Amino acid sequence: MDIHEYQAKELLAGFGVAIPRGGVAYSPEQAVYRAAEIGGARWVVKAQIHSGARGKAGGVKVCESDQEVREAAKALLGHRLVTHQTGPEGRVVHRLYVEQAVPIERELYLGVVLDRKYERIVVVASPQGGVEIEEIVRDAPDTLLREVIEPAVGMTAFQARDIAFALGLTPAQVGRMVSTLLATHRAFRELDATMVEINPLVTTTDGQLLALDCKMTFDDNALFRRPSVSELRDYAEEDPREAEAAELGLNYVALDGDIGCIINGAGLAMATMDMIEHAGGRPANFLDVGGGASPERVAAAFKLVLSDPKIEALLVNIFAGINRCDWVAEGVVRAMRETGVQLPLVVRLAGTNVEEGRRILHDSGLPIATADTLAEAATRVVADLAAARKKDES
Ligand code: ADP
Ligand code: MG
Repeated sequence: MDIHEYQAKELLAGFGVAIPRGGVAYSPEQAVYRAAEIGGARWVVKAQIHSGARGKAGGVKVCESDQEVREAAKALLGHRLVTHQTGPEGRVVHRLYVEQAVPIERELYLGVVLDRKYERIVVVASPQGGVEIEEIVRDAPDTLLREVIEPAVGMTAFQARDIAFALGLTPAQVGRMVSTLLATHRAFRELDATMVEINPLVTTTDGQLLALDCKMTFDDNALFRRPSVSELRDYAEEDPREAEAAELGLNYVALDGDIGCIINGAGLAMATMDMIEHAGGRPANFLDVGGGASPERVAAAFKLVLSDPKIEALLVNIFAGINRCDWVAEGVVRAMRETGVQLPLVVRLAGTNVEEGRRILHDSGLPIATADTLAEAATRVVADLAAARKKDES
């Protein structure tokens, strides 16, 4: 799960990381009010969307008067911001963060990530902040500083000092940097984050060290024990179908193909998607209905997949161990009747109560094609989709 910049900064501030003064705003009036609250004569108005690279896309605006704050807020709120991370469809801006503009001296990079190769938390820093990490890796790999954290020990002050000195900071700044590093690492650990990126972390001409931008990603599997984090979820930032699936307890990931998939088990889902591709088709989603799926749950999964307008054919592939083929069949038939869907549908059932399942499909009188093997099912759905398209053309 991702959160917004202002939320990430508030969390970090709770661990002792210094951030500029700022406040969230949902309207131009509120943005002006926030600027007055913050005081000073220069502010930045920042679009809050789950994407980096907002600055280059016009999502970070420096303002020097009430009027400019109002105009900046108007220009951003309700509009789509397209960054090179959002894809061409961009993201609609619903919230703004108004912040004091600080006198930047240097922009540094700081990241805390879970490194799969080292199987450790790794703290990464660079004196070349303000540009994306990919660019630093490409253009200035020699500037990258890396500290691998021993899980039993945690980040040590020694490691933090090593980074601080290597960044070329002044003695006064080194102390601040060490506490910022330790606090960021502690936030990462205690909130079950998988990534914390402060980019840029800036030194200012008046001697401060401030987190100017922050991105945090959390381990979904740990959210149950971090209610203060999980309540920060912003559904407006998520694919509505993925959010609905999460509510239903289904594992759903939207993809860009046209064949909807309803499958049990993540492994079988992956194999089925591969098989569809192999047969020349393109899966529209990954969906795992899980074990012990009731007819209601299968029907709900079916409708969820169908709510994607790109869907032109459906494949149901169930290998029932804990599941029951008769329940799956009942769910499929129910969803077909309730939605009146006319698309090509191929169902492959195997395992518990398979005979009963096949009978239910057959007796329904609905145009449901069945298959015995995964390969057959995938080939069939791709062929049926091609035939349906041909029919549409003529
Ligand atoms: P993004 O990474 O999405 O482009 P940032 O928050 O990193 O957004 O902002 C981009 C750039 O805008 C920063 O690198 C910094 O130069 C400038 N900036 C952001 N916030 C402030 C601020 N409060 N004061 C001064 N400059 C800022
Ligand atoms: Mg940034």
